Amino acid sequence: MDGLNSAKRSVTILGATGSVGKSTLDLIGRNRDRFDVLALTAHSDVRGLAGAAMRADAALAVIGDERLLPQLKDALSGSGIEAAAGEAAIVEAAEEGADWTMAAIVGCAGLRPVMAALRRGGTVALANKEALVSAGEIMTRAAEESGATLLPVDSEHNAIFQCFDRARPGSVRRITLTASGGPFRDRSREEMNGVTPAEAVAHPNWAMGAKISVDSATLMNKGLELIEAYHLFPLGPEAFDVVVHPQSVIHSMVEYVDGSVLAQLGSPDMRIPIAYTLAYPERMETPCERLDLVRIGSLDFREPDLERFPALGLARAALREGGAKPAILNAANEVAVASFLDSGVAFLDIAEIARETLACYDPPAPASIDEVLEVDQEARRRARDITRTYLN
Ligand code: NDP
Ligand code: MG
Repeated sequence: MDGLNSAKRSVTILGATGSVGKSTLDLIGRNRDRFDVLALTAHSDVRGLAGAAMRADAALAVIGDERLLPQLKDALSGSGIEAAAGEAAIVEAAEEGADWTMAAIVGCAGLRPVMAALRRGGTVALANKEALVSAGEIMTRAAEESGATLLPVDSEHNAIFQCFDRARPGSVRRITLTASGGPFRDRSREEMNGVTPAEAVAHPNWAMGAKISVDSATLMNKGLELIEAYHLFPLGPEAFDVVVHPQSVIHSMVEYVDGSVLAQLGSPDMRIPIAYTLAYPERMETPCERLDLVRIGSLDFREPDLERFPALGLARAALREGGAKPAILNAANEVAVASFLDSGVAFLDIAEIARETLACYDPPAPASIDEVLEVDQEARRRARDITRTYLN
């Protein structure tokens, strides 16, 4: 592999069976001589986990659902790969001290494992935005204290990271996150009312897990990303903007005080930002399609429509208010999206459930991970109660 130091790096992937986890394993599989896989984790996909662990020659495979340990042991028998199960075992795997850890669990369920990796130090590639949204200051402080290198995987934040002059943050005036607008960007509220989970998950530009695909369709994803960006880059909340850019070619932009705007462009393939974090501070080859601007022809931009996509406004308000609000927004959204994917509430109810949960729950700002998780649990309870009122 070009451009990487010769020493082998040990890697752990939290959420190895998901969309980001698989893309990470694809890159590692193409560079077996450069990486040693320490641990892979999943929640319930035993076959996916065991298969990936054997292909990657991992030392350890951890399944979150403890009831599945016998099946995992079975699937790994004779391979020499250690099997473990349970939430605590995932946290232990994160603590093992890999040189590089991919945090790609979906939802706030990833918070304790990513905190364990950050406290241990090393490089943490962060895809799990829900953890940072819920526990932003606590997570970034943990990284500072341990000296961990926190690298954003989310394509927008990875783009900003590549363009942002970290030595001179005062020279940056504005950050613009691009949003594809999702599959319903041209639909009216009325047309969005009856959309099915299958329609919502069919993203026009990116192939992703179900939850983030629904978030992209509501624009909640962009809202969570505003909060994520605020925690990663040292600017005030008003310095972050969103622009709809349907082609997903420009992944985000950084404007400097002199009027210069730096952007990162590329094909919409998560292996590009993942490769950036794997090779950092070097660069590595990827098999990704090269950007062909002549073929694309033109790039379009427009203002996001907060009336059709109220989730973005809710997230903006949660960012301004701070404290527990982002964790509540995230928890309520996770509950509402799970219900929608399970053919429960309607698509447009998702933002309403988040709005109602935010309105009825106003605890003090959480000061520790335990307190964040208490807020998260209480917000989920309330969001589930509210969700029930939408089911009749
Ligand atoms: P997927 O749903 O495809 O994968 C989620 C992974 O997390 C799986 O490995 C899953 O295991 C595991 N998991 C789910 N629930 C739990 C739990 N309770 N405890 C432990 N592990 C769990 O998601 P994505 O890969 O799409 O997304 C992962 C994260 O990355 C999300 O936070 C998302 O917002 C972010 N992200 C994703 C992008 C993408 O392109 N997909 C782009 C930018 C950010 P199992 O398979 O066994 O259920
Ligand atoms: Mg993104």
